[in-house]
Amino acid sequence: MLETTIAGSLPKPSWLAEPEALWAAWRPEAGDALDEAKRDATRLVLMEQEDAGIDIVTEGEQSRQHFVHGFLETISGLDFVNRKRIGIRADRYEADCPRVIGPVARTRPVHGGEARFARAHTTRKLKFTLPGPMTIVDTVADEHYGDRAELAMAFAALLNDEARELEAAGVDVVQFDEPAYNVYMDDVKTWGIRSLERAIAGLGCQTAIHICYGYGIDANRQWKAGLGGEWRQYEETFPVLAASAIGQISLECHNSRVPMSLIGLLGDKDVLVGAVDVASDEIETPEQVAAVIREAMEFVPPERIQPCTNCGMVPLGRDVAYAKLRALAAGAAIVRAEIAGP
Ligand code: ZN
Repeated sequence: MLETTIAGSLPKPSWLAEPEALWAAWRPEAGDALDEAKRDATRLVLMEQEDAGIDIVTEGEQSRQHFVHGFLETISGLDFVNRKRIGIRADRYEADCPRVIGPVARTRPVHGGEARFARAHTTRKLKFTLPGPMTIVDTVADEHYGDRAELAMAFAALLNDEARELEAAGVDVVQFDEPAYNVYMDDVKTWGIRSLERAIAGLGCQTAIHICYGYGIDANRQWKAGLGGEWRQYEETFPVLAASAIGQISLECHNSRVPMSLIGLLGDKDVLVGAVDVASDEIETPEQVAAVIREAMEFVPPERIQPCTNCGMVPLGRDVAYAKLRALAAGAAIVRAEIAGP
């Protein structure tokens, strides 16, 4: 009960990539030195999560430069050389995105080797994250399909092949990251959920979706400041998610203006309750974490709650990130002890 986990990414050591940056450049030259550094970093983040007391660990996305483009780099039909600068997340910010210039196809496994390596170096439950179809569609410049729903279904088919291989590699939870879900609420209903269910079709392992209001970067802070006193975007999407085939929903709760009562709309899903903020360097106390978990328990029974981080931790400093993970585990332990009673 109250098994702890993380949204996905963790900071990279400074010998692997430029610290505290999104889209950070790799430090070792490409080739064997880079591959070795990625593997070393993976072992390190697994150990650090275990030391912090995290129950369901990830490889911390140590082998990917970015959570969307890391998957797309090996997909054919995309032009990564001549990228196009486009507005993403409804023009919240701009990014240099690969162009879709033909039918997309997965020519070889993408993350299978990383998953097998991580599986071999931890005995804890292992989660692996992939970008969700809607967020992929929102992070590429389409010049071929001309229809976002059709492109999403094409990516969903590739993601499903990948997810099945991750499951075969011993991954316990495959999670799709969909920060686009609170930007395009109507699309979620018309084709977002359909593409998500295509991506998880036939999986026997646990499945999850992470939705959020983004990392703690300036563009997101400004956007959040304009969203008003209560963030109710999820009021539209949670009933749709509750009726879907997905097993778990991960969202930010601590320091978020999402009314906690909204998680009561998630039906019988597991809820990964974000109880540490990734947009602040302030370390939560275990008691603060416990308070978030207790509040969530007013709407969802503890059997269906996993205390989690609000979002990926890649932009944080390492010391800050691991102090927050220790607080997360300690806060969950407080509530577990309360439930167990004297
Ligand atoms: Zn997130």
